[in-house]
Amino acid sequence: MSAVHAPLTGGCLCGSVRYTIAFPPGRTYPPQRITCQCVQCRKHSGALTVHLLCLHPSQISWDTTTATTFQEFQSSPHCFRGFCTRCGSSMTWRKQQQQQQQPGGEPEGEEKEAMIDIFTGTLDAVDATLATPDEQLFCGNAVRGVTDCVAAGRKWVAMRGGEEWTGWD
Ligand SMILES: [Zn+2]
Ligand SMILES: [Zn+2]
Repeated sequence: MSAVHAPLTGGCLCGSVRYTIAFPPGRTYPPQRITCQCVQCRKHSGALTVHLLCLHPSQISWDTTTATTFQEFQSSPHCFRGFCTRCGSSMTWRKQQQQQQQPGGEPEGEEKEAMIDIFTGTLDAVDATLATPDEQLFCGNAVRGVTDCVAAGRKWVAMRGGEEWTGWD
């Protein structure tokens, strides 16, 4: 099984939490990239716009030789935001997988695209490809002339697939 793209590495500010992202066959490179300007992402990160890579959990290897200072905060009923308890770096966002049991027993729909988003800013190196979003979420919260200037990807007023954001006019 050969990787179709070299792994990406990253971690928190203090280095306690380190990870590697793999791109085995079947996982495309670049991964889906989004930006978000929702209030929760802003509060969690301290940034007006956050950039995220949408990944399958199996692509991420957490370095278990470093200190385990990774924790998650449950920011809404099914959503968890990961951060380093030592340095405070914002690192991940994920939605809890809805395990739906069929009456017969088998979990339904094997992997309901259980994705985990990693904050792009925690990568060791970021290039234009990784920084360019496919989709931009919560553009309705944009700050005119400042956070509405990334001219890439589909722009949504709020959630992905909702009302399209067409700017200020
Ligand atoms: Zn840290
Ligand atoms: Zn957000």
